[in-house]
Amino acid sequence: MIGAPMSKLDLSKFARCTLLEGPTPIQHLSRLSAHLGSVNVFVKRDDLNGLGGGGNKLRKLEFLIGEALAANADTIITVGARQSNHARLTAAAAARVGLQCELVLTRSVPRFDADYLNNGNILLDDLFAARVHDLPGSTDALKFADERASELRLQGRKVYVCPLGGSSPIGCLGYADCAAEMLNQASAAGLSFDRIVVPNGSGGMQAGLVAGIVAMGLDPNLISGFTVYGDAGKARSITLDKAVQTARLIDAKLTVDSDAILIDESQLGPGYGIPTDAMRAAVRLVASMEGLLLDPVYGGKAFAGLLEGVASGHYRAGAHILFVMTGGLPGLFAYRSEF
Ligand SMILES: *Cc1c(COP(=O)(O)O)cnc(C)c1O
Repeated sequence: MIGAPMSKLDLSKFARCTLLEGPTPIQHLSRLSAHLGSVNVFVKRDDLNGLGGGGNKLRKLEFLIGEALAANADTIITVGARQSNHARLTAAAAARVGLQCELVLTRSVPRFDADYLNNGNILLDDLFAARVHDLPGSTDALKFADERASELRLQGRKVYVCPLGGSSPIGCLGYADCAAEMLNQASAAGLSFDRIVVPNGSGGMQAGLVAGIVAMGLDPNLISGFTVYGDAGKARSITLDKAVQTARLIDAKLTVDSDAILIDESQLGPGYGIPTDAMRAAVRLVASMEGLLLDPVYGGKAFAGLLEGVASGHYRAGAHILFVMTGGLPGLFAYRSEF
C-alpha cells in the first residue's frame, strides 16, 4: 500500500464526540526489528489515547457516544466479559461527557482468582462510577442489557445500548477513520507497509479498517487479523458482515468482497481470555526489547502470530509490517499470576 496521495474519507455526516487528542503515532521498533533480522516492525500506537487508560475502543466510542448524545440519551449500557476494556472505556467516556453508565459483565472467561475478578479493568470501572451487573458466564448479556434499558425507560430515562466491543456499524466508523489516518501518516512519512496486523475480538476494528480502505478505493487485502475470540470461520463471517454494513453506512453503493477479510486462528489457543505460552513470550519480548506493553487477551496473542509469521518465513525479507497496538494494559494486572 501507500505512497498514494492524501486519502480522504468524509465522515462528517455522522455525529461524533471528540475523545482522542489527535492522530496516534506510528513508531519503528528498531531493537526488535534488528533482533528479528529479516523484517521491519512498526507499531500504530492506538494504546496512546489519554482518556480512561487508553485503548482502541475510544475510536469507536467517539461515534457511539456521538450518536447517544445526538439522541439525548442520559444513560449508556454496554456488555462484555468481566475484564472488558470496552466496558472500562465506555465508563470513562460516559464520565467525561456526563452520561450515567451501566455495565453488564459476564463471568464468561473461566478465571476466578482475585486479580481477575477484582483488579485491572474492574477496579477502574468502579472508579469511573459505573454500575456493574455481575452475571454468570451463561447469561445472554445483550438480552439482559435490553431488559435493563426497558426498565430504566419506564422510569423516564433515555438509554443508549451499545453492543459487545462497541462493534455496531456506527462504532466501526472509528476504525474506518483510523484507516485514513494511517494511510495519510504513512504517505507523509514516505513509508509503505506490506502488511497491517491486528487482533480480532468482536471484529469491529478489522471491519472498520477494511471498510475505510474500501471506501477510499484501495485494496483491503493487506490487513491480517488474528482472532482471539472465535474460530476463523466465525470471526471471518462476523467481521465481513460488519465491514459490509459499515461500508454501506459510509456510502450505500459500496460493497466488500468476502476475500477482503483475512483471519488467522493459530493464536486463539484454548479460547477467549485463556493465556497461551506464545502470548506470554510475545508480551515479554516486546516489553523487554522496546519498553512497550501488550495486553494478554488481544495484543499479546496477535503479536505472537506476527512473530510466528516471521519465524516461518511468511513475510518477505525486508517487509514492513505495521502492528496496531490497541491498549488493554489493565489486563496485565488481572493476569498477574500468568507472568
Ligand atoms: C477490543 C480490543 C481489541 C479487539 O477489537 P475488536 O474491535 O473487538 O475486534 C483488541 N485489543 C484490545 C486491547 C481490545 O480491548
